[in-house]
Amino acid sequence: MNRSLRIAVVGGGITGLAAAHRLVELGHATPPQITLFEASPRLGGLVATQQIQGYTLELGPDSFITNKPWAVDLCRRLGLEEQLIPTDPQYRRSFVLRRGKPVVVPDGFQLMTPARIWPVLTSSIFSWWGKLRMGCEYFLPARRDVIDESLASFVRRRFGQEVLERLVQPLVGGIYTSDPEKLSLRATLPRFLDMEQRFGSLIRASRAAAKTSDRSEQASGARYGLFATHAGGTAQIVQALASKISDMAEVITHACVTQVEPLSSGGYRLTCGASSREFDRVIFTIPTYQIADLVEPFATKFAQALREIEYASTTIVVSGHKFSDVRHPLDAFGLVVPAIEKRRILAVSFTSRKFPNRAPDGCVQLRTFVGGAMQPELFLLSDDETKQLVREELRDLLGVGGVPDFEVIARYPRSMPQYHVGHIDRVARIRELGRQYPGIFLAGSAYDGVGLPDSIHSGELAAESGIQSKENETVS
Ligand SMILES: Cc1cc2nc3c(=O)[nH]c(=O)nc-3n(C[C@H](O)[C@H](O)[C@H](O)COP(=O)(O)OP(=O)(O)OC[C@H]3O[C@@H](n4cnc5c(N)ncnc54)[C@H](O)[C@@H]3O)c2cc1C
Repeated sequence: MNRSLRIAVVGGGITGLAAAHRLVELGHATPPQITLFEASPRLGGLVATQQIQGYTLELGPDSFITNKPWAVDLCRRLGLEEQLIPTDPQYRRSFVLRRGKPVVVPDGFQLMTPARIWPVLTSSIFSWWGKLRMGCEYFLPARRDVIDESLASFVRRRFGQEVLERLVQPLVGGIYTSDPEKLSLRATLPRFLDMEQRFGSLIRASRAAAKTSDRSEQASGARYGLFATHAGGTAQIVQALASKISDMAEVITHACVTQVEPLSSGGYRLTCGASSREFDRVIFTIPTYQIADLVEPFATKFAQALREIEYASTTIVVSGHKFSDVRHPLDAFGLVVPAIEKRRILAVSFTSRKFPNRAPDGCVQLRTFVGGAMQPELFLLSDDETKQLVREELRDLLGVGGVPDFEVIARYPRSMPQYHVGHIDRVARIRELGRQYPGIFLAGSAYDGVGLPDSIHSGELAAESGIQSKENETVS
């Protein structure tokens, strides 16, 4: 007797919710039975917006990139597009710390390539020697034998050590909280490798692309700029997803899946607390080392491969201040801190400069990042020690004094997957080994991209694969 497909989604972060939502979207003809398990009391995972004393706080992600279409597309389907807001163009620039002082990142500098020459020549970030070395990039031949390479190795050979240490490490480190000596360029920023291959030089490539990108930005990205968020905070997308799936999916919070067993008839039995249930498909959206713990008893090699992806831990201190207590004008989106400056923070985001209504009039909201792959020992500090450290750093670097309106600490243990050199092969091997376990699907930020759009996309793809695989199998 035919019955509907039983699909479990493990994890109720943005990936799990996007997966469940896609299952609902696809399941109108023959609706599957969808059950989403979330270990914690609330949905959203890393996405967490809070209101405190008139401030809107983001404890996890605060926005998403718009040139990857999946988050904007999902917002459109959820009827949330009108709620999307762009970053404030007035402050669209960043500072980088240079000898203890914030200095503006040269206009047009895109992660590692200077699209415009003059702002780099006049910048005080680099020495004259550093600028000369950067300019040599134009004439350096492309290396044709590279399959994968660390970010540090690539930047060092193309632009020199100074560009790496002074700008690329903190800018890219800010995104991946990673050690650039280990970060895979192919897995994170393949377009730079491709630019080298196609044009022989990144400077040449970005100058050639400048006109085209100006035109395409005017056509599409301009509506939001490069980053967007929701007027009420990123949790709006979580609420919209939860309400959209509520009729067709069973969503269980306080539900940690602790055991997974394959069934001889196909499918899997999931244990959660004292109860067990059987499913035909399981979509895992939890970190790879947690999936490994669950599959280890029946899939040793698969578990080993999943454990090879390392994760870094970060703490964010979100704080509110009277603007009159801050000496620096904070006329940018934030400050990144190169490792060679030997400070104890990675970056400060000037949240209320990026987006409107994040702080009451006359106040500012700051998000200070501590720890990451480069300073793992700082993640181990107590809350009081972390707050003290952040206060001292904000005072020294930005002249933040007085008593903050509030300080909230958000800790993210082993939450940032590290795309080390060889990551693409590592993921391919995980997928290959995973094929031995039909009905298991993997999604989340560990595989093909770390941000919200990639997480959404991977959840949606896993849902599509889960439903489509039904056509090849008889569930009875
Ligand atoms: C500090 C920080 C800042 C970030 N900032 C940005 C940003 O500004 N922009 C951006 O695009 N991206 C950002 N990211 C990345 C983005 O947050 C992630 O890509 C995305 O949130 C990952 O979502 P997820 O659902 O895959 O994982 P998670 O959000 O981690 O969700 C996994 C869920 O699974 C649950 N779970 C775990 N084990 C079990 C189990 N056994 N049973 C049931 N449930 C379980 C957890 O409780 C959790 O809710 C940031 C990440 C971090 C850590």
